[in-house]
Amino acid sequence: MERIPVTRSSMPPIEEYTEEIESLWESRWLTNLGEKHQRLKKEVASYLGVPHCSLFTNGHLALEAALHVLGFQEGEVITTPFTFASTTQAIVQCGLTPVFCDINEDDFTIDATKIEKLITPRTVAILPVHVYGMICHVEKISQIAQIHSLKVIYDAAHAFGEKLDHVGIGNFGDLSMFSFHATKVFHTIEGGCLTFHDEALAGSLRALKNFGMQSPDSVTRVAGNAKMNEFQAAMGLCNLRHLDEELTKRRFLAEQYRKRLAEVSGITIPAQQKRVQSNYAYFPILVDEEQYGRNRDELWQWLKEHEVYARKYFYPLTSKFECYQGRFPVQETPIAQKVAISVLTLPLFADMTKEQVEFVCDLVEEGQR
Ligand SMILES: *Cc1c(COP(=O)(O)O)cnc(C)c1O
Repeated sequence: MERIPVTRSSMPPIEEYTEEIESLWESRWLTNLGEKHQRLKKEVASYLGVPHCSLFTNGHLALEAALHVLGFQEGEVITTPFTFASTTQAIVQCGLTPVFCDINEDDFTIDATKIEKLITPRTVAILPVHVYGMICHVEKISQIAQIHSLKVIYDAAHAFGEKLDHVGIGNFGDLSMFSFHATKVFHTIEGGCLTFHDEALAGSLRALKNFGMQSPDSVTRVAGNAKMNEFQAAMGLCNLRHLDEELTKRRFLAEQYRKRLAEVSGITIPAQQKRVQSNYAYFPILVDEEQYGRNRDELWQWLKEHEVYARKYFYPLTSKFECYQGRFPVQETPIAQKVAISVLTLPLFADMTKEQVEFVCDLVEEGQR
């Protein structure tokens, strides 16, 4: 059996991509919000069902831009430590202080009932994460934000194309960030975007990703460079055409996993959220050492010995990162900690075969002691 990676980037047929980029040899317009950038921006906004979208060279810089555009210079941001490094790093990079809230045991998103206790006079925003595409309790969060006059920015890196009661997930909060990294469901090699309702943000975001330049003669903000180039946008235009087909494949594979692993004692599969149209971005399982007979690390190792590469995702909690120790108080988040040491995401990508899923499931079954 060949090795099975945790993920594998989607690629359009090579002819499709070369056809898409051919015009660049004539125009010689390779970046600076060119024609492909403009087209992709429209197509992404339409696919996500949002009024406004701004493209970036990666998701992380988009997240930093979201914090900048709301004008935060200092203060606290309530977030969760059960996420990818980027979420917390964006907060700290922007000179803000992360305040760690615990998560729900069933969907791994921020526990909205614990947010208010963490609000102080210094709190400026809430930055929750739609973990593995599991959608946060958006109504509760927006209620709290309204009462306390806080902004909400969603890290929707995992949630491209998802809907809550048929509403595109990028419509919640003040801004949402989607990542188009090569490992995500939809990608532009590297890339990302912000979605938002307030049209006034569009011009500021354009300046923020282009050195703060309002026009060639006028630099109005302190900012860096985070523009998406034309080759990235071309990859996005191609990949978007195949996305629905890929989501159907992912859904089929996730259902196979679900059927096969439901019976294995000590393995828990998080329930699907009823109101959510999922993108099947990841397939996380929780390993209960007592019932399964191996702990998460041992199962990870067992799979690896058979060339199956699962991922301890997310582990460790971002609140445990060495670089943060001693810089600001780190809150205890016991549920997040429990999940971080028992979760494993299994291989899942659009062109994975049913046989490969079977093989992984056989191993998980055989690994039980
Ligand atoms: C991928 C990811 C990001 C960062 O996205 P990049 O496009 O790689 O910069 C941020 N948050 C989460 C949760 C992610 O998974």
